[in-house]
Amino acid sequence: MSTAANTETRGFETEVNQLLDLMIHSLYSNKEIFLRELISNASDACDRLRFSAISDGSLYEEDIELKIKVSYDKEQRTITISDNGIGMTREEVIDHIGTIAKSGTRSFLDSITGDEKKDAKLIGQFGVGFYSSFIVADEVTLRTRKAGEPADKGVEWVSKGKGEYKIASLDKSSRGTEITLHLREGEDELLNDWKLRSIITSYSDHIDFPVVMDKKIEPDADAENEEASIEEETVNQASALWTRARSEIKDDEYKEFYKHVAHDFEDPIDWSHNRVEGTNEYTSLLYIPARAPYDLYDRESHSGIKLYVQRVFIMEDAEKLMPRYLRFVRGVIDSNNLPLNVSREILQGSKVIDSIRSGSVKKVLSMLEKIAKNDPEKYQKFWREFGKVIKEGPAEDFANREKIGKLLRFATTHTGDEEQSVSLDDYIGRMQEGQDKIYYIAADSHAAAKNSPHLEIFRKKGIEVLLLSDRVDEWLTSHLMEYEGKKLQSVAKGELDLGADEESEKELEEKAKSAGKLLKRMKKALQDKVEDVRVTNRLTDSPACIVLNEQDMAMHMQRLLKEAGHDLPSSKPILEINPDHPIVKKLDAEKSKTKFADWSDILFDQALLAEGGQLDDPAGFVAKLNQMLVTIAR
Ligand code: ADP
Repeated sequence: MSTAANTETRGFETEVNQLLDLMIHSLYSNKEIFLRELISNASDACDRLRFSAISDGSLYEEDIELKIKVSYDKEQRTITISDNGIGMTREEVIDHIGTIAKSGTRSFLDSITGDEKKDAKLIGQFGVGFYSSFIVADEVTLRTRKAGEPADKGVEWVSKGKGEYKIASLDKSSRGTEITLHLREGEDELLNDWKLRSIITSYSDHIDFPVVMDKKIEPDADAENEEASIEEETVNQASALWTRARSEIKDDEYKEFYKHVAHDFEDPIDWSHNRVEGTNEYTSLLYIPARAPYDLYDRESHSGIKLYVQRVFIMEDAEKLMPRYLRFVRGVIDSNNLPLNVSREILQGSKVIDSIRSGSVKKVLSMLEKIAKNDPEKYQKFWREFGKVIKEGPAEDFANREKIGKLLRFATTHTGDEEQSVSLDDYIGRMQEGQDKIYYIAADSHAAAKNSPHLEIFRKKGIEVLLLSDRVDEWLTSHLMEYEGKKLQSVAKGELDLGADEESEKELEEKAKSAGKLLKRMKKALQDKVEDVRVTNRLTDSPACIVLNEQDMAMHMQRLLKEAGHDLPSSKPILEINPDHPIVKKLDAEKSKTKFADWSDILFDQALLAEGGQLDDPAGFVAKLNQMLVTIAR
């Protein structure tokens, strides 16, 4: 709807409205952060101008000193934050300010609970940025002009944060963005020089650019007729935090800087600040967030590590500076050896980048190792948030797999609960004499893993088994074949060798011999379904179980892939039976050929189900089972 030339009123997406309401409620108790968010955006805009100006110096338009200004007007009841950064075009204003151009916004909103405390955390993770101005403002006016564009290409955007915004053309001689907040009733305490300065120093001290405010200079007492003058004064430290010495930086400063780079509202759990000297000089400041971002599994999500060259921001690109399995790491890397005009293509094959990346990965891994050692509780929290991502590590980063292996945590039969808290070192420390493998079972839920019949013999012998139920586990175990020289072995695959003594081996042989006829009959009855039927040394309580070949994928994974439409080569499993079990004994005594075949089918299908497999004919299974039950009930 157009009211005048170039003036339009546009509606927000429904998502924006919902988000605004939610944000105002849940972040109100922390309302001062609006200033941090706007200064953070302004600083990013200055960073971007500085970068673009490397290749096109004219963008500076004779205004070289980049800065951010905060001012207020008591009468108008407004606060204004202006920058001389890159600015925005009309399209950019519509795209970036009128829309929430983040993937997954919808699903994020669906996760909102209605519980204010929880939602405040969620919205903090989501990052509200510019919109946080509506916490204190009932109307926001943004005026901007893109660097390099003529003055009449300015844009004015005005909104009360309710449903719609107005956008119009504007003459703006200075480049950059100016945001004016008209305060809500009751927010007048913010219209105060001291208050604003203290918010800036506590939240934005680390910003690389000067954040200035006006200061009134009173004339000298003895100078007659002189009027007070106004000067700009820099309020923050205005030096890139990471260039300062570690000993001079307070924890709170590190934390505030983290919130700026990571767009996070919560404190990080740890950080590592390093200066590397020598032929490849760089500084890295790497943070571990406390909480997984809402888009951790979104392939499109990009933010991560910011790359600087000699303090000039170059780009934000997680992939080249951190592997995928450490994609949650946030921070900056500032290189002295890369050229300022570095492009993504140059980064691709750059030896400098390779060595920065591998150095940084080592730092992160040893930071995690330290947390795990010194503060297991904290590590456990970390694991809950990011464990599944770390499990991608051994496949992606073969060279560091032992180090990553040390960081892994699992649920096991030893603790019995679902919490993944056992390390492989703990496991090895509890291994039985003569045990040379790390045993695991993989299923599609913790309960299925924990109750699998395959664990019976392990329970009896007191051997610990890792209980794996994350989807990524199959991926993990196919790449982490061993740890500390101990092979990882699925209890559901291949021949089971528990270092059996001679006596039990003999016993098994004898059992197989006396069950010879039964095995033959079953094999015939199940010939389309199984590769072999043999006597088990795995079961104590169950009648039968499915055993896979060493190279086969676990049953539940086969099912998932089939459901996803993949064609899998169908290899037949092995059925192992427990001849001492009453059902198996009954089966052995069965004379009727059809009944024998039905019993065998039921045993096989049951074993398949226990394994998380899928029955080809579930209704047939139920019918056969009911028939059997009827016979017994009679
Ligand atoms: P975020 O900063 O997390 O991307 P925001 O909602 O705060 O989210 O900002 C959205 C986008 O609007 C920014 O990514 C940027 O492109 C643009 N933007 C915001 N403030 C400014 C500014 N002061 N100068 C230039 N662009 C800005």
